[in-house]
Amino acid sequence: MVARHDLTTDPGLQAQLLQARRGTAFFARKLNELTDAQLDGDSLLPGWSRRHIAAHIGYNARAIARLIEWAATGVETPMYPSVAVRDEEIEFGATLSPIALRNLFDHSAVHLSVEWRDLPDDAWHHTVRTVQGRDVPASETVWMRSREVWVHAVDLDNGATFADIPEPVLERLLKDITGAWHTRGTDKGLQVRVTDSDLTFGDPDAAVVITGPLPAVVQWATGRGTHGVGADGTAGQVPAAPKWI
Ligand code: ZN
Repeated sequence: MVARHDLTTDPGLQAQLLQARRGTAFFARKLNELTDAQLDGDSLLPGWSRRHIAAHIGYNARAIARLIEWAATGVETPMYPSVAVRDEEIEFGATLSPIALRNLFDHSAVHLSVEWRDLPDDAWHHTVRTVQGRDVPASETVWMRSREVWVHAVDLDNGATFADIPEPVLERLLKDITGAWHTRGTDKGLQVRVTDSDLTFGDPDAAVVITGPLPAVVQWATGRGTHGVGADGTAGQVPAAPKWI
């Protein structure tokens, strides 16, 4: 059956779907503002041009759509056969003509949106596996996509900033990132304090405290520079954030 609106009746999930689709529209806007020649320019990610970012976001939508098909049918279809294949696919995608690259982004985004729309309520609980090997409910794919489109829109480096990213997305990102540090034990002696809200993460007895407004702190935590953040306990030097991914 083909629905004209999302089949899920879960209000939390509906809100997350809206956030992911808004992020996709935001990424689309930034991508469309770039001329074909500008696609050849550098992104904010070392070694990646804007073409790599666009290809990655396109293939990411396809990969996440495979997880939704898995959740819908029960037939296991991984995101990618392997991390190496994922990386090769991005390298290949970056060589596509500008029109093909833009089509890849557009078509894959629409396809994913339709897969989400037509997934029945009960199937959102079905377990699928991320490329990192994590077993998650299909509902987690909405956040996986949201964070990709919002953050990589900034990486296109044509005017988007972390201040453009909605607060709930920034908060969840910071929770994810500091959680990953904690799991790996790389946050020892480090605390993160958001000055424009009540958020504090990390070691309560930390010698080093990173402070700043939410967008600046998240930008720092994702490894994208120290602009707008301060540090206590380091004689003014802001240390690099521990690795996130
Ligand atoms: Zn990514």
